[in-house]
Amino acid sequence: MALRYLYRKLSKEERRCPYCGKVIQRNIAVYRGRYFHYGCLQEAKMKRYRCQNCGAVLNWLEVGEAEVLGHRVRSCPYCGGPLRRFR
Ligand SMILES: [Zn+2]
Ligand SMILES: [Zn+2]
Repeated sequence: MALRYLYRKLSKEERRCPYCGKVIQRNIAVYRGRYFHYGCLQEAKMKRYRCQNCGAVLNWLEVGEAEVLGHRVRSCPYCGGPLRRFR
């Protein structure tokens, strides 16, 4: 995929990878309109969580994220329940 133009089109902040928090300088990948390092995107897909309330298994990309009192909080997008790493 020819995504090279994105480095010129996007500002540094827009190129910040939501997975690792670093500005993307190379290996950019797009997922649902968000920009990731290619490696981070693959890792995010493999990183799974299980909802302790409804039992849904979700990967990092599907998990909702909110910021509460400066902390990143992940919760189930279906029921809002607490999540635990799943393997
Ligand atoms: Zn990254
Ligand atoms: Zn749930």
